[in-house]
Formats: sequence, C-alpha cells, structure tokens
Amino acid sequence: MRAPVNNFKPYYAHEGGDITQLFGENVELYKTLNIGLTKGHNGIDIVRPWGEHLFASTDAVVCELKDNPDGYGKYIRLLEDCGGGKFREWTYGHLSEIIVKLGQKVLEGQHVGNMGNTGFVVSGDTPYWKTNPYKGTHLHFGVRELKADNAGWAYMGAPTIKVNVVNYDNGSLGNIDPLPLLGGFNAFPRSLGITMKGEDVSRLQVQLVIRGFLETTDFGYFGPKTWMAVRRFQSAYLLPVTGYFGSMSRAKLAELMKPK
Ligand SMILES: [Zn+2]
Repeated sequence: MRAPVNNFKPYYAHEGGDITQLFGENVELYKTLNIGLTKGHNGIDIVRPWGEHLFASTDAVVCELKDNPDGYGKYIRLLEDCGGGKFREWTYGHLSEIIVKLGQKVLEGQHVGNMGNTGFVVSGDTPYWKTNPYKGTHLHFGVRELKADNAGWAYMGAPTIKVNVVNYDNGSLGNIDPLPLLGGFNAFPRSLGITMKGEDVSRLQVQLVIRGFLETTDFGYFGPKTWMAVRRFQSAYLLPVTGYFGSMSRAKLAELMKPK
C-alpha cells in the first residue's frame, strides 16, 4: 500500500505538508450541505500542483469512472480484493485527467490520473481553508470497507462482484480514515522522545491531532506540546505517563490505527 502522490507528507499544508482537510473535519459545514456526512469530511484532501501524477494505492480494478460536475468532478474508484470476501473501495476525486479505463486492472504505484479541480471544489481559499496554496486544486482521497453480499450492488467495472458497505452508520457513508492505511502499521519504526525530528514524528502528531490529544504544532519536531500530548494519550489509555513514545505506546497506537 502506498500514498496516491509521491513523497506524501501526511500533515497540514500550512505546516509544510500535503493535507488541507483531514478525515472527520468540518462537521458543521458538512451538516449544512445535507449530503449525509453528519460526521464531517469523508476522506482526506491532498494539495499538489495541477497536473501532478496520481498513483494506485494498491493492486485493484477500476470499478467506477465518471465525470460528475456537482460532486467529485472527474473521478475514479478502485476496487481492491482483500481476500475472504472483504474489499476496499478507493476514491480519487477532482482529477484533471483520467489515465485508466473502466474495468482495467491496475498495480500499486501505477499512474491512474492527474491532479485537478473538477467538480464541486470548496477546498480553495474559503472561510474554512485559508491556506490552500493551489487555489482549489486538490485530490479528494477516500476509502470504504466493503464485504461480498448477494443483496448488494455490482460496480460497472467489476460486474461479477456484488458488495455492500461494512458500516454505513459511521456517519460518513461508510468511509473510514485512509491515513492509517498509508503506512499505519509500520509508521513508528522507533521510539520517539523530546527534541527528536522526522517523518515518524509528523505521523505521530497527525494521529494525536485526529484523536484530540494535540492541537496544531510544529510538525516534524517533538517539542513540549507533543510531549504533553503523548502524556494525555498515555493517561487516556492507562499506560505509564512518561511523555516518551516508547514500545508500549507504539503498540497501543498501532492497535488503534488498525482498520477494523
Ligand atoms: Zn475532500
């Protein structure tokens, strides 16, 4: 499994990363849109320059391919067969160009389309996102967990497989947070403590933000705010409260990040 862009930086654009909107953000905005997203944004928004190449996150088949001006614009959906009757549906929205064909098998890392701003794009400079450097150009990246189900539906590009959503009632139409899938299991190869730097520090901070233990910080640097946030995390999960992100904390967070 890999990110849909090269050299993915999984933290906010105003901190030097690639994300303008995380999963589950802006609950009030999405409630007013009245499209069923009562728990906020149902994917992550990744900002990169218009036309930059996008890649398949995993081996999959192109199960849906459309141009919907009111929604995701030019978008594709990839269907991943996870075995045992389990599937994942990966959504790539707002593309400028689609490279693949309906029903085509793609391999992880294959070029599938290009970054764009087609469809209903509110992720430019708005009251909600003041820091998008590319004025609306972004990838909406979403994922849903599906199961084989004879009473379900079949995608145009995968007509022999009938599926249904594992859990519609999570408030985001069955979507889950894609970030842990982009390296979540191996996200923390070392223990982390005060004054350390690196991509793994950023990944930890993103998880602490998503889980409400940390507000914005200098991503990539383990400073006092992160130390306090790790202590809050440890306290919440009945771990020794040290502020050091060691093996017990790493195991706990990895467990929480595993898709259900
Ligand atoms: Zn989005």
